[in-house]
Amino acid sequence: MKTLTRTSTPTHVASALESALQQFDRAADHIALDRVTRAILRVPKREWTVRFPVTMDDGRVEVFTGYRVQHNLSRGPAKGGVRFHPQTDIEEVRALAMWMTWKCALVNVPFGGAKGGVTVDPRQLSTNEMARITRRFTAELQGIIGPNIDIPAPDVGTNAQTMAWMMDTYSMHHGYSIPGVVTGKPVDIGGSLGRADATGQGVVYTIQRAAEAIGLPLQGARVAVQGFGNVGEAAARLIHEAGATLIAVTDVGGGVYNPDGLDPLALKRRMKETGSVDGASGTTPMSNEDLIGLDCDILILAALEGQVSAANAGTVKARILAEGANGPTTPDADPILRENGVVVIPDILCNAGGVVVSYFEWVQNLQSLQWTAAEVNDRLRSVITAAFDEVWQMASTDGIDARLAAQSIALARVAEAQQARGIYP
Ligand code: GLU
Repeated sequence: MKTLTRTSTPTHVASALESALQQFDRAADHIALDRVTRAILRVPKREWTVRFPVTMDDGRVEVFTGYRVQHNLSRGPAKGGVRFHPQTDIEEVRALAMWMTWKCALVNVPFGGAKGGVTVDPRQLSTNEMARITRRFTAELQGIIGPNIDIPAPDVGTNAQTMAWMMDTYSMHHGYSIPGVVTGKPVDIGGSLGRADATGQGVVYTIQRAAEAIGLPLQGARVAVQGFGNVGEAAARLIHEAGATLIAVTDVGGGVYNPDGLDPLALKRRMKETGSVDGASGTTPMSNEDLIGLDCDILILAALEGQVSAANAGTVKARILAEGANGPTTPDADPILRENGVVVIPDILCNAGGVVVSYFEWVQNLQSLQWTAAEVNDRLRSVITAAFDEVWQMASTDGIDARLAAQSIALARVAEAQQARGIYP
């Protein structure tokens, strides 16, 4: 349930939607996308805003606002997480839904893109309040989600427990268990082995590949991680297990630094006890801004959008910037990073491990069977590696950056599906 406040800078930082649209236009130009397909894919297909009252623990009734945006459905049912965050609004959800379309297409899973959100700070809620908000939000989405329609998953501020409440609420309305309505559930009720770590695992698989590509040994490589939620924690732990040295972590409550290495398990315990890694023993404090400009080999951004922009991109010293979050780098930062030789692993590739294993979970639910953890991880590695190689290949053939390559591959795939299906009636 960790969230991270946005970094404030004196200049305008592109919003998530501005970033998503600029990236879209760039990819559409690169693949010379026709006018009609461009007009269809530049906007979400469907979107809902719901407002609903919830009784809080003290008896007060509060009215919450939630969103679900289905950006595109041409390659399959819509897929994407649900975010609980105080700054979530329709524009952010539109951007995140669009990125899900490209992400699912890039890793070639048969889904379109969606995203949902509730404007609320989960850190201010009791477990019972969280449950009531989730259940009521799910009831509001009743007719528009479903295993063949739109399949939510966890995102910032939500987790496996949130998915259990969503699955239960949806199932209650239908009178029988429907596990395939959400992914990222607890394993006991149809969740997939390996899903909890899947996004972080995917981040590490892509970093391993990028490190190989530039001849950076992972053994002893110095890693800084922004965000210590589901993605940041798993990525930190797994890259440490792979032999790298974790030197800095920041989260919503502060940050820690130790050039000799941090123990990710100790940080996890600290987080559990205090809600932040801040102040963990044997560490010195580190700010978010200092972490971004830290002298390190690998920088993993696993928090929110808009963290690296033109205002601070020039300070990045890492050789690899891995986008564990969605949209952490704004388009005006990309040329600066490129100029400085920073290899960016773009979000729709870097953090796709989550939705890849969501797809595996959904397939297991539809077939009522369970794969082993090894099976899940092997398949995840091969899907992510294939996508990585395709992106790197196109980037080198076309002489373009990895983000443009990833977005172009994804967009071409969605455009093909859109065109094959044609225009109804
Ligand atoms: N919220 C995650 C993402 O941004 C996972 C989405 C999913 O598994 O559907 O990719």
